[in-house]
Amino acid sequence: MNKPMSDLFQLHIDIDARVHGIRENRPDWLCGKGCDGCCRRLADVPRLSAVEWTLLREGLAALPSERLAEIRSAMHAMAVAAAEGVSPLVCPLLDQASGACPVYAQRPVACRTYGFYVQRDLGLYCRDIEARVEDGTLADVVWGNHDAIDRWFAALGEVRPLPEWFARWEGGA
Ligand code: SF4
Ligand code: SF4
Repeated sequence: MNKPMSDLFQLHIDIDARVHGIRENRPDWLCGKGCDGCCRRLADVPRLSAVEWTLLREGLAALPSERLAEIRSAMHAMAVAAAEGVSPLVCPLLDQASGACPVYAQRPVACRTYGFYVQRDLGLYCRDIEARVEDGTLADVVWGNHDAIDRWFAALGEVRPLPEWFARWEGGA
């Protein structure tokens, strides 16, 4: 395994430990299977580092061709919507009928940290979690540090929008 990939897996382990720590103290935590609110309310087109894309591509390559065709069309629709200034955006990978992520094991870092990490005074929460933060019911939660994640990304170099990675892959790049 190359170094960027082993660094990514180490980051996944660190994130999983933080998420597990929060869930352990909060068995009623809102994020869970079936909740796809954040996948349906993306503030912008997802941007991925090369190593995240390499992993995500493995998940995509394992999908049936019909599912891949749906994703291709959703990817195009998202790119058009983003160019027209539409916000929020729906993740083109989301299975909208079931609310499941078809590449859950290979999902990007942002999908792993959302809802569990904060950036200085800025919470990266969905509205549902934010309401609980505001009413004080989550005052004892030890959130993950998103600034450390940003530093990790800054060291990675190449970051591209998801539709661009996808188009390059389909084009054989
Ligand atoms: S961050 Fe919010 S919308 Fe996303 S899974 Fe958690 S509770 Fe659901
Ligand atoms: S990659 Fe998966 S988890 Fe991330 S936003 Fe898309 S559907 Fe949701």
